[in-house]
Amino acid sequence: MAELIERRPEGLYVPAADVYIDPWRPVEKAIITHAHSDHARPGHRAYLAHPVTAAVLRARLGAHIWVEEKDYARAFRIQGVRFSLHPAGHIPGSAQVRVEHKGEVWVVSGDYKTSADGISSPIDPQRCHVFITESTFGLPVFQWEAAPLLAERLCSWAAHQLQAGCHVVLSVYSLGKAQRITRLLNEAWIVPYVHPAVAEMSQALQQAGVPVGNFSPLSALENRGETGVILVPPAAEEAVLRRLKGPVVTAACSGWVSIRGFKRRRNLNQGFGISDHADWPGLLATIRHTEATSVRVTHGFSGPMAQYLSENGLDARPLETAFNPAEAE
Ligand SMILES: [Zn+2]
Ligand SMILES: [Zn+2]
Repeated sequence: MAELIERRPEGLYVPAADVYIDPWRPVEKAIITHAHSDHARPGHRAYLAHPVTAAVLRARLGAHIWVEEKDYARAFRIQGVRFSLHPAGHIPGSAQVRVEHKGEVWVVSGDYKTSADGISSPIDPQRCHVFITESTFGLPVFQWEAAPLLAERLCSWAAHQLQAGCHVVLSVYSLGKAQRITRLLNEAWIVPYVHPAVAEMSQALQQAGVPVGNFSPLSALENRGETGVILVPPAAEEAVLRRLKGPVVTAACSGWVSIRGFKRRRNLNQGFGISDHADWPGLLATIRHTEATSVRVTHGFSGPMAQYLSENGLDARPLETAFNPAEAE
C-alpha cells in the first residue's frame, strides 16, 4: 500500500497532495518547516510556511519568491489532504507538519527542541500514527544542562572577560541561536555587536514581530574603541578575528561543544552547550508524547536511534536525508 509520506530523490513527498516537505531539490510545491538552509532550499515554484518563516525566506531567498503563509494550528487542504503546522520550539516560526488523510495521521517534526528559548513558540507535540523525527543529537551522550544555568554561566563569563579588557567573540548560527543569545546577553545588560549576516536575520525576525532584543552593528564597535561581545556565524569568525584589535577570547554556543575535542579543534577558549535541538531525553519524551507506534528517524544519528527505539518496542527505522545537520548547526 502506498504510504502517506514517502522519500523521493527530491525529498519527503506526500503523493496524495502532490506536495513536498523541506525538499532538497527544486519542486513545484514545498511546505517548509523552518528557514534554516538545510530545510529551506532555493528554487521551488511555491512555498508554504508559517508567517515568521515566510519573512525570513524572503530575506534569505529574495522578495520575489511565492510564499503562502499559514499560522499554527490552522488546518488547510491540498487535494483533499488535511495539513496543519504546529510549533516545534526550534527557532521562531519553526513548525511540525501534521498530515491527515483517510483516518491516518503522520507528523514531520522538522528540527525541534523541548526547552524554552524566550523567542520561539514552545513545542506542541501532536498525536499521530507515524512520527518522522529529527535526530541531530540522537545519542545518549547528548544531555543538556538546564537552560537558565547555561545562560547564567555564559553571561557571567562574558561580563568578566569584558571587564578584563578582552573582546568576546561568540560563534553562533545566524538564525535563531544569535537572537536567543542576544536576548540572554540583554538580560545581563550586555548589548552585543553583530555581524551583518546576523543583523539581517535579526531585522527580518523583528519585522515579523519576533522580540529579538537589542543589538548594535559590528561596524559601531570599530568606531568606539571599547571591548564588546560580538556574535558571528562560524563561517565569518576567522575574518572577524583578523580585524579585531586587542586581546580576544572566543567561545561557541552549540550542542556540539559537549563532544570531546570540539573546543580544541575549533581553537576556542570556551564552549556553552546551548542548543536549539532536543537532547536525547528530549527526543525520547517528544516521541512518547506523539503516541506514535511507528517512527521514522532522520536528520542526524538516525541509525543508532532507530535501533534503540526498535529495541524498545516501536516500529522504527532510519530515513536518510540529503543534508547532514552537523554542517548547518
Ligand atoms: Zn534547523
Ligand atoms: Zn536541520
